[in-house]
Amino acid sequence: MHPAYQFRLDHYPQGADMAAVWRASADPAPPPVAGEVVVRIAYVSVDPGMRGWITPKRSYMPPVQPGEVMRAFGIGEVIESAADGLAAGDWVTGFTGVQSVATLPAAMLRKIDVSQIAPQLYLSGLGMTGYTAYFGMTDIGQPAAGQTAVVSAAAGAVGSVAAQVARLSGARVIGIAGGAEKCAYLLDALGLDAAIDYRAGDIAAQLAAAAPGGIDVYFDNVGGEILDAVLGQINRHGRVVLCGGISQYGDMDSVTGPANYLQLIAQSATMRGFTMRDYLHRIPEAFMALAGWHAAGEIVFREHVLEGLDRFPEAFAMLFSGANQGKLLIKV
Ligand code: NDP
Repeated sequence: MHPAYQFRLDHYPQGADMAAVWRASADPAPPPVAGEVVVRIAYVSVDPGMRGWITPKRSYMPPVQPGEVMRAFGIGEVIESAADGLAAGDWVTGFTGVQSVATLPAAMLRKIDVSQIAPQLYLSGLGMTGYTAYFGMTDIGQPAAGQTAVVSAAAGAVGSVAAQVARLSGARVIGIAGGAEKCAYLLDALGLDAAIDYRAGDIAAQLAAAAPGGIDVYFDNVGGEILDAVLGQINRHGRVVLCGGISQYGDMDSVTGPANYLQLIAQSATMRGFTMRDYLHRIPEAFMALAGWHAAGEIVFREHVLEGLDRFPEAFAMLFSGANQGKLLIKV
């Protein structure tokens, strides 16, 4: 047995109050049986998508059941192995859960090389976060030189990568974020053409000023009023990429859709949702592109790391207040 501690889902949230839904436990990790490994988890990824995983509704994955260890992406080191192909000392990534040490099926894990790349990058720009941004932007958004692309939650994990991928395609890129500090980051660190602070008043007016020729591509992470404002200014044959809708995650029982959707008809525009499930077979393509840009200094990734697994409830809440600056991770 290996000493371990973890956060479990105690019960499904009612409305926006999520503080009480977690329960800490200290159940040891059992020795591995054939095909399993014991992993000492180094970093836990804290994602807005977790809100969907604790909602008992139809989705792209089954919900976490009350009592179960909370689902999370993570990376860690194998400390004991009963599986072919993985040995103690190997590093792996996958759904390792919100826990310090775990006994997991090796088939659920992917071996990673941490000799050249810092491990936490496999959870941020060179992991699912980066791949989501890459495929959403290149495959669905398809920005091109001379076009205008808008990205919401643009200072965040997925948004910051999506915005830079659009910039690298030659498009003019407008980022939307909350507050002057994040807007300065969009211009100074990410090299975007314009930044909009959605907390600073009329979003539609700010968009019209920043994109006088209209919007060709919108990569949406937030939904709500911002999605509505963009739809009102979408260009003919524009593409709206539905990646997330964090403004609606507070109460999953009363999600509000966009009132301006008729603009999609008037402009022969498309709005398409996706998850990484659609692109799992193409991960090497995204990894190569992102790693190449990163090595060449053409793209930057930012991680916001909290120390200590006990900070998980606090970390999860940060995503909804906008307190995170970049990919939110917990160093266990
Ligand atoms: P972020 O790092 O972007 O953190 C979330 C950010 O959302 C906050 O920092 C905050 O930034 C912004 N935000 C929070 N509440 C609101 C609100 N009410 N209105 C506007 N902005 C808000 O998280 P991720 O990059 O991990 O996730 C971004 C989105 O991408 C989420 O919607 C997530 O569900 C989605 N996603 C989708 C995937 C897919 O496969 N489709 C995979 C991964 C993520 P600010 O300070 O600017 O307000």
